[in-house]
Amino acid sequence: MTKTETKSTVLVKHHLKQLKLPTMHGECEKVAARSAQENLDHLAFLLALCELELVDRERRAADRRLKAARFPAHKTLDEFDFAAQPSVNKPLVLELINGEYLSKRENLIVVGASGTGKTHLATALGMAACLSGKKVRFFRVTELITTLIESRDEKSLLRMRSQLAKQDLLILDELGYVPASKVGAELLFDIIATAYERQSLIVTTNLPFENWTEVLGSERLTGAALDRLTHRCHILETTGESYRLKDAQKRRRRKPQE
Ligand code: ADP
Ligand code: MG
Repeated sequence: MTKTETKSTVLVKHHLKQLKLPTMHGECEKVAARSAQENLDHLAFLLALCELELVDRERRAADRRLKAARFPAHKTLDEFDFAAQPSVNKPLVLELINGEYLSKRENLIVVGASGTGKTHLATALGMAACLSGKKVRFFRVTELITTLIESRDEKSLLRMRSQLAKQDLLILDELGYVPASKVGAELLFDIIATAYERQSLIVTTNLPFENWTEVLGSERLTGAALDRLTHRCHILETTGESYRLKDAQKRRRRKPQE
């Protein structure tokens, strides 16, 4: 390598760093060598390098969105065994995974008993949304209510609400296990009302609609919440046995007898 080449390499790498193009910074020498070998012209070389940066940038952004969404576990649709849960409307799930409901600001309510795959499906849909460029935030309902009450006490409720309003999709998991306090129910309602026709919501619950008053307290609030949630809404039912239970039984049977 001549002196000038070394100098231009150093400068190019310095500039690429300044320009915040880390993949081009890391790959430029390799791609330059390969392009020379393949007799590519300058623009073809630049194109190859730009493409690497773009692909990497998209991957980094998707990673950031996945992290920011705070999913409780990594779950995908590939890992969901539809045969084990025949009650689940598979065509609907496959339609939802394409994400059109998000651009139409439609909601999804997943209803079913414990262990029937509600959180799994909600997470898989949320992860797919992240990968397609959407901003998602996952909450257990009790955790969301606690956070909202804390923010209110610390006078940061406005900031919290505007953060939530920036998301394309909010996942509210496990509505129904714990009744909310009056304040909690009102704060939760406020999130549902704000999201109405602006963001999509996925709510998972073990409670049929007629029992939602048990969580939200007042009939009036429950009616108003359901009215907004169900206006443009898909409903997915996961009836049937608990997958956890079946899985545990299978494992137990598989264990060799002592
Ligand atoms: P729920 O939220 O309805 O209580 P989960 O989604 O948490 O249930 O499911 C419990 C466990 O069983 C999770 O580990 C989930 O990945 C798994 N699971 C549930 N249903 C299925 C299924 N049909 N195929 C594969 N795994 C499943
Ligand atoms: Mg769950």
